[in-house]
Amino acid sequence: MSTASESYSSTYDFIIAGGGLAGLSLAYYLSQSSLENAKILIIDQSEKKENDKTWCFWEAQPNAFDEIVRQKWNGVWFHGSRNFSQFLPIDEYQYKLIRSADFYQFIYKAISRKNNINILIDSILSIEKDIDNKPQVKTVKGIYKASQIVFDSTFRSPYTDTQYSQMLQHFKGWVIETDEPSFDETKPTMFDFNVEQNDECRFVYVLPYSKTKALVEYTIFSDNLLEDSVYDNELKDYITHQLKIAHYRIEEVEKGVIPMSDEPCIQIPDHGIVRIGTSGGYVKASTGYSFTRTQRILKNLVRDLEQAKGNFDSFEKEKKVWRKDTYIPNWKALLDSILLDVMLKNRHSSKDIFTCLFSKNRPAQILKFLDEDTSLLEDLAIMHTVPIIPFLKSAFVVIFRKIWLFLR
Ligand SMILES: Cc1cc2nc3c(=O)[nH]c(=O)nc-3n(C[C@H](O)[C@H](O)[C@H](O)COP(=O)(O)OP(=O)(O)OC[C@H]3O[C@@H](n4cnc5c(N)ncnc54)[C@H](O)[C@@H]3O)c2cc1C
Repeated sequence: MSTASESYSSTYDFIIAGGGLAGLSLAYYLSQSSLENAKILIIDQSEKKENDKTWCFWEAQPNAFDEIVRQKWNGVWFHGSRNFSQFLPIDEYQYKLIRSADFYQFIYKAISRKNNINILIDSILSIEKDIDNKPQVKTVKGIYKASQIVFDSTFRSPYTDTQYSQMLQHFKGWVIETDEPSFDETKPTMFDFNVEQNDECRFVYVLPYSKTKALVEYTIFSDNLLEDSVYDNELKDYITHQLKIAHYRIEEVEKGVIPMSDEPCIQIPDHGIVRIGTSGGYVKASTGYSFTRTQRILKNLVRDLEQAKGNFDSFEKEKKVWRKDTYIPNWKALLDSILLDVMLKNRHSSKDIFTCLFSKNRPAQILKFLDEDTSLLEDLAIMHTVPIIPFLKSAFVVIFRKIWLFLR
């Protein structure tokens, strides 16, 4: 790996635009594959030394990054409607936490032995085709060409088409430290819906690092962002009244907005340019989770690249160049759209829907369902446990809308 500016060449096999979760994961999987000798340039505007994100996800298997998993738990607290408040075992799964700073360091170290992978700290201005129809990336410092593919994780879809459900998951969290033991580090809270819902989906999660340190995050699913002071006041209120902690220090602040949209994402906008990560629509529309999906999709993508053996025309054809008007959602995407519509239109309280899901099913089954690993029969059994009328209304609206969008 090289970061010295004089060592950059102008052409690479692959360019990875954006070295965040998706970009660095892709570089890592490529470095472990039969394409390990490909010449790769990763471009990011920052050196990724800060902990800008805390990723939580559940898994039944170990992953490539297990050695940097900071915390893992065998169950989660759920506080919902109808006085349902339980610590739920998650059986075959573990709920895991990775700090992004550890992740960036892990990948940088793993690729540091490779002379064929360069990292450039620079701002990308555009990604386009050159006069020879090859993809290239323009940055403040120069122009870098890819003989094969530019993977782009920097593009941000506007998600403004009102024909689709457009929601945002927005949140603010504090890592707080206390002098007295205040947390049980073996028991995280995945959902605490016992906060004012305001006709939206609002909850807090608490991820304990130790008896005296935890990340407390206030999260909202809605279609508009709030003033910063609202998140702060809600966090203060929760820490004081629910956690009953009077004295604490704020060690870190985490803020974020994740798109929750069923608008189809154009993954291959042009020959030789492939969008990955949030840019490629990897976020699960109805939950905002994407860590596990990103790993799964990128591992498959690298396998497909290996099989393409340099013939990326056929790779792209197989990957289907999505156009919005020809996109037909599969069953899982349809379910996602329905759940999104129920929440967005507030057809039933989200707090109650999540409570039904987690209290009337085996919690591990719901995690499997959210990972889209359940069968059709299992999906139908789960759908039988949520209020049926609001879901039927949304199903009707979503299916009608999809047909209309397809035919127009
Ligand atoms: C604070 C936060 C917490 C999250 N927590 C979870 C979680 O717990 N579980 C989960 O499943 N998902 C979570 N997500 C959602 C998702 O997993 C993350 O957003 C994830 O980082 C997405 O990966 P990505 O590669 O698409 O984007 P990023 O990781 O954001 O990477 C994009 C990279 O592109 C770079 N970049 C952008 N524009 C330019 C430019 N013009 N020039 C150069 N570089 C550029 C950025 O610096 C960045 O490094 C979280 C998201 C946020 C924001």
